[in-house]
Amino acid sequence: MAVPLRVRDGRVGPGMELTELQALEERYLMQTYRRAPVEFVRGEGAVLWDAEGREYLDFLAGISVCSVGHCHPDVVEAVREQAGRLIHVSNLFYTEPMVRLAERLSESSLGGRVFFSNSGTEANECAIKVARKHAHGRGIAEPEIVSFERDFHGRTYGSLAATPGLAGNEALGPMLAGFRSVPVNDAEALRGAVGERTAAVLIEPIQGESGVYAIDDEALHAARAACDEAGALLIFDEIQTGMGRTGSLWAYEQTPVRPDLLTSAKALGGGFPIGACLATPETAEVLEAGDHGSTFAGGAVAAAAALAVLEIVDDPALLRGVRELGASLRGQLLALDGVREVRGRGLMLGVGLAEGIDAAAVGTDLLERGLIVNVPEEGTLRLLPPLTVDAEQIERAAALIGESLLTAL
Ligand code: PLP
Repeated sequence: MAVPLRVRDGRVGPGMELTELQALEERYLMQTYRRAPVEFVRGEGAVLWDAEGREYLDFLAGISVCSVGHCHPDVVEAVREQAGRLIHVSNLFYTEPMVRLAERLSESSLGGRVFFSNSGTEANECAIKVARKHAHGRGIAEPEIVSFERDFHGRTYGSLAATPGLAGNEALGPMLAGFRSVPVNDAEALRGAVGERTAAVLIEPIQGESGVYAIDDEALHAARAACDEAGALLIFDEIQTGMGRTGSLWAYEQTPVRPDLLTSAKALGGGFPIGACLATPETAEVLEAGDHGSTFAGGAVAAAAALAVLEIVDDPALLRGVRELGASLRGQLLALDGVREVRGRGLMLGVGLAEGIDAAAVGTDLLERGLIVNVPEEGTLRLLPPLTVDAEQIERAAALIGESLLTAL
């Protein structure tokens, strides 16, 4: 592929060199990310191309965002069509894509109402507000939210306070009060932590950012029972696990419990920023006019994109494919030298590497070989390919991981 042309200083010419981009990034962007030294310019399905025309198999999908693949024609068309007609009017008025999306999300999940946001962390902020107001309604003056250690719920202050691994960053303090955590999968500790003051238990059914660790059924049962006993709400953060990632539209469908609130984002918009807090009919009435809001949320283009994504993902054949391809990928990975275990469900997999293998070095080597994965913790590769990936791409990815591990052993 030819080097892409760009408009620069009013002239059309070849794109910037990577080193030039890096220098500008360092000068003009707050240095909160460590980016890999690649500039991507095009994507299609599970494939990305960099500025040099090199092809990559994308087994990260924008961190579980591009679940229908890059630039899926139906999503592109829905966005193009909506953007050409109406982009934004605010939540002071009605727009059809927003209302249709709310109906579709509600009918496919908890049956109540939806609050839209622009990101995952904001979807959780809404759930936290619902839980706190619900608790105040039960006479609790200082409501508390319980989550598991190693959970990740986002970067805004409410979600951050429910993210124990980051909430300890004193330089960002003071943190929001009213949050506590218990060890992962410790059902006994969870029962002990939920009491009179508890507004909600907020959990990721499979912890994604900390390395792909599922919450076991015993802990989920304990969470549901403890919430029921205390009158508290059970919130599932399905920002990473939802929208088909685990082989059902929502991960909770494959667990023994049903939450009172569910948050979604990431794959919901197929790359367009949109999040949602989904409620049961009982919790749908907690927030009233003035309690919450967002200028952009539920915007027509993002909602149109999400409707197109749901049309593709909320399909039994696609979801069966996710389960089958996931099982096949898991089997191929487990057969590799250097793989200790494979965790997760569907196409959300954490590959635990053998003792002594430097996962970060493997991740870097894989990028050089043309496979994109990420390393959420020492010793683990995380694989989140588009749900539309095919069997040949799965085999190619497993083969590349095998080759890389052979050099790392
Ligand atoms: N919750 C979970 C489980 C996530 O994985 C993430 C992002 O990685 C978030 C919340 C935050 O989402 P966002 O980055 O869109 O704010």
